[in-house]
Amino acid sequence: MLDKTRSVDPQKIRNQLFINGEFVDAADGATIAVVNPHNNKELTSVAEAKAPDVDKAVAAARAAFPAWKNMNPSGRGRLIMKLADKLEDHFDELTELESLDTGHPIVDTRRLDLPRTLLNFRYFGGLADKIDGRQVPVEPGFLNVVKRQPVGVVGQIVPWNFPLMFCSWKLAPALAAGNTVVMKPSELTPLTTLRMAELMGDVGFPAGVVNILPGYGHTAGQHLAEHPDVNKISFTGSTQTGRKIVAASAGNLKRVSLELGGKGPNIVFEDATLPAAVGGSAFAIFHNQGQACIAGSRLLLQESIADEFLERFIALAESIRIGDPLDPNSEMGPLTSKLHLDRVLGFLEVCAKEGNKILTGGAQPTDPALKHGFYLRPTIVEAKPGDTVFKEEVFGPFVSVTRFRDEAHAIELANDTSYGLGSGVWTNNLQRAHRMGDAIEAGMVWINSYKRVHPGSPFGGVGQSGYGRDLGTECMNEYTEPKSIWINYDAQIPPFYSRP
Ligand code: NAD
Repeated sequence: MLDKTRSVDPQKIRNQLFINGEFVDAADGATIAVVNPHNNKELTSVAEAKAPDVDKAVAAARAAFPAWKNMNPSGRGRLIMKLADKLEDHFDELTELESLDTGHPIVDTRRLDLPRTLLNFRYFGGLADKIDGRQVPVEPGFLNVVKRQPVGVVGQIVPWNFPLMFCSWKLAPALAAGNTVVMKPSELTPLTTLRMAELMGDVGFPAGVVNILPGYGHTAGQHLAEHPDVNKISFTGSTQTGRKIVAASAGNLKRVSLELGGKGPNIVFEDATLPAAVGGSAFAIFHNQGQACIAGSRLLLQESIADEFLERFIALAESIRIGDPLDPNSEMGPLTSKLHLDRVLGFLEVCAKEGNKILTGGAQPTDPALKHGFYLRPTIVEAKPGDTVFKEEVFGPFVSVTRFRDEAHAIELANDTSYGLGSGVWTNNLQRAHRMGDAIEAGMVWINSYKRVHPGSPFGGVGQSGYGRDLGTECMNEYTEPKSIWINYDAQIPPFYSRP
């Protein structure tokens, strides 16, 4: 029934590589099957880029760079804004396509993924003509200006968990700053990015400014990261792949920014407003089936309220409606791939071995309508520091619970990780909130909320969560090079080697 009401047919979207403003087959004609995680059926297939296709795309981006860089910045901004309008015109189609491809419930793609994508394009479109430099007060007679210039050809590699939104996080600021781009979406979820490429052509982006290459990481991604004519790689993905990107970048010492994994501590103090903390903590981990780098995957509960909190939290987790992502009543969909589901299920075996008590979930749903999909029930397990599930990113609807005595103990547990990306604190004590905000070693701290993002606020991590920032005016530093220009405007200043 749901299929009949669909406004999108994945078979009909342009499924080739987008290079130099045209859709073309891969040089060797290879393709990748794209699977619906709800039922494990093939949705369509897309062309698979390999090294020769990457070379072609980088050459197109290089050729397009001078004109794009020298274009009136407000003209660049206007195109980016127009793209946002175009995407909005295709709201129903894009949200359905994203839900089909990723398994995100349609309620989420409609209220979060696509609105946030539009907001990003509009924010950075507006920023295109506001990337100003500065004038430095050096010695008299000299004018020193620091200009911010685009870095050149940027390679962007994104994961499968928020394909269209991450595409906007990367593309919008890079383009606003005057860079040209070769983007590699995840091999698992390329559909909305390809559809966006088609719409970019309609909007009037010059050929070569954006090139989209679905392909595998170890081939297309690796070649892009190694490419001598790429000036920068902006990467979002796992810490393990992040290390490979850094190694691959060494050849031409390209710039690199890395948004990697996380193991977000979400800390609930006894003075928190419990219903808000329970609901917020569920959103922190179960939204998007827990497939979020910033997920609040380590729940830290103050001993005095732990039992009451858990009673409510478990009841909420058990009430989450799991179902077909296209059903507007579904609150949780499948994980995005079979491989990933198996990986997450592997952590349940680890729990059995290490003695982590499973408080709820720990199994796939029994509903026969979901039996071919990659579903997992919301899972809550007890863990202590040192346990695998306390340390390692699971990237699923899977949260570990650990109790703490007091604030010092909470800080110790929160920082007992090699990651440092998202984190949350639930408290009504203002001073404690500020102390915790200072003490947690992470790129983002949310107080009495979780997972807030906005294009104006920098996003990124410390430690094994990577370096550099997406979003915020901070990310413009990632996409521009400062250039210091000195002008001698006082003929009285002698050069050091003066001769009559
Ligand atoms: P992944 O590292 O396997 O893949 C990410 C991207 O890198 C994909 O496009 C993949 O094809 C590509 N890739 C893989 N190997 C490569 C190589 N050798 N060279 C170049 N590219 C390569 O990650 P994933 O499984 O797609 O995504 C999940 C991971 O992403 C999780 O660890 C998650 O925490 C992380 N993530 C981080 C953020 C963040 O902003 N910090 C956001 C979302 C996801």
